[in-house]
Amino acid sequence: MVKDHLVIDGHADILYRMGKEKLDFYDVNSPLHLGYRQMLKAGIDLQVFVTFVDPARRGSEQLVAVLDSIHRFHQQIERPGGIKPIYDRTGLHEIYDETANPHALLSLEGAECLDGRLSVLYALFTLGIRMIGLTWNHANSVADGVGEPRGAGLTDFGKEVVQHMQSLGMVVDVSHLSEQGVYDVARLATAPIIASHSNARHVFEHRRNLTDEQMKMIVDTGGVIGVTFVPEFITSHETVTMDDLIPHVEHMLDVVGVHGVALGSDFDGIDQTMQDLRRGSDYPRFLERLEKEFGSEVVRLIAYENMFRVLDNTLPTHHSA
Ligand SMILES: [Zn+2]
Repeated sequence: MVKDHLVIDGHADILYRMGKEKLDFYDVNSPLHLGYRQMLKAGIDLQVFVTFVDPARRGSEQLVAVLDSIHRFHQQIERPGGIKPIYDRTGLHEIYDETANPHALLSLEGAECLDGRLSVLYALFTLGIRMIGLTWNHANSVADGVGEPRGAGLTDFGKEVVQHMQSLGMVVDVSHLSEQGVYDVARLATAPIIASHSNARHVFEHRRNLTDEQMKMIVDTGGVIGVTFVPEFITSHETVTMDDLIPHVEHMLDVVGVHGVALGSDFDGIDQTMQDLRRGSDYPRFLERLEKEFGSEVVRLIAYENMFRVLDNTLPTHHSA
């Protein structure tokens, strides 16, 4: 496909899988869904690289693992002529440069490592983290995740975290957060918030998918919902294909409009993939399919313009750390 627009992917677990399976991002034969070669084939211009830590790790081990992950990014992914990180709006605008290689934004999935301390939040900002998924599926000092039966929302500390994140220029990500947590964050937000990788619960009942009301609240902040390729969030069919994902996109567009939908593949964070959307090189076919269904203007918005707008309204103007 001729590249007539950019692509921003709001969520992938490349760093986690590299650490777990000892994989080389730049190896042309890498099995990573989004190794460097696959990322180029996908046409991705900006990739959110997530630092995710095994929830079984406790206390300071969480923080050490996040630091390991950030170190892995700098040692093994950031490279002249390869991936370049962005930390502010100036960097964000570089992705428009046609000769640019893919850029990266660092995110934390699950704020376990904060452990009730704002000092860690500030340290993570200094280290370049620009997005945080407040929880994974369990509870932490910030809020409850979707897997926590009591279903509580933000803690008092969590409210402080959201406020400090937004004043620093970090994007608050509510995927994995409890239902109450999503409402709390949306009510508190003074800047756009996102759900980086979640689909529509109206189309398929799964705790990780969002209700229409949740989606509307997120988009009312100026934010977006990232359509995700996780088979178990899409349908109960044994084989899952793009045909099954299209109704999610259609429903999201119906509920929140064309300015509220983006992409968050969750590639390399999933064991099973969709049958026809298995890795970066399948991305262009997915975008072509979206174009056929919804037209090229809508695809531009979903593929990058909406997420670009969110980042351009939330990231710090200049990186001074
Ligand atoms: Zn996730």
